[in-house]
Amino acid sequence: MRILLDKFSKSFGDVRVIEDMTLEVNDGEMLALLGPSGCGKSTTLFAICGIHKVSGGRIFFGERDMTDVPSQERNVGVVFQSYALYPHMTVAENIAFPLRIRKLPEAEVKRQMEEMARLVHIEELLGRRPAELSGGQQQRVALARALVRRPNVLLLDEPLANLDAKLRLEMRSEIRRIQLETGITAILVTHDQVEAMSMCDRIAIMNAGRIIQIATPQEMYRNPRTAFVAGFLGNPP
Ligand code: ADP
Ligand code: MG
Repeated sequence: MRILLDKFSKSFGDVRVIEDMTLEVNDGEMLALLGPSGCGKSTTLFAICGIHKVSGGRIFFGERDMTDVPSQERNVGVVFQSYALYPHMTVAENIAFPLRIRKLPEAEVKRQMEEMARLVHIEELLGRRPAELSGGQQQRVALARALVRRPNVLLLDEPLANLDAKLRLEMRSEIRRIQLETGITAILVTHDQVEAMSMCDRIAIMNAGRIIQIATPQEMYRNPRTAFVAGFLGNPP
């Protein structure tokens, strides 16, 4: 589904963190929000999923104006660093949780849960608890739990930040594979330019609450609009 932020702004008290941001994410596209720490990336995701109210502007999912729609009704899948798995539940119960809330028939819950487990390659881990999984496996479970609800958009906030270098490399291509296989619209927040370049269709470079440039990785690298963009892209992948 297409996601549109139309002149979105966000303040905390007197401090304006996002200023008139307009951003369109195409249906089926994976877009990177790339920028330094504190530039407003997570704040933007929180506004899309409805955890934060906007201070100005509108948010559309397709044609629907979601600006004042409560978080639970937006059907957004999130994988945030801070969104831990439920430690007391098995992998199967974690993935099935969003479906049980919707009171789907148990046979249907099981079918959809197993389908997601196959998609993210964790069929053999369904009986384990999160503490018995590696970091990469936990992120796979988190992805399955985010996707099982067939969300309108998948929001990924630094999903690879806690993984070691080898796992990070593996999960980069895995997340992209899963995004392409499901065809879901996705926004990846990262401060890692290589991650953005290797995983996404387009990159939006942010600084201090504004988008400086939006382009494909190739365009961005060949033709950075400002010294900030050039400096931020730095070393090519
Ligand atoms: P990023 O994800 O790009 O690192 P954030 O979106 O988390 O940045 O934060 C952007 C700015 O907004 C930072 O200056 C941060 O301190 C501020 N900020 C974020 N959340 C809050 C909040 N709940 N109250 C006050 N300031 C906040
Ligand atoms: Mg952040």
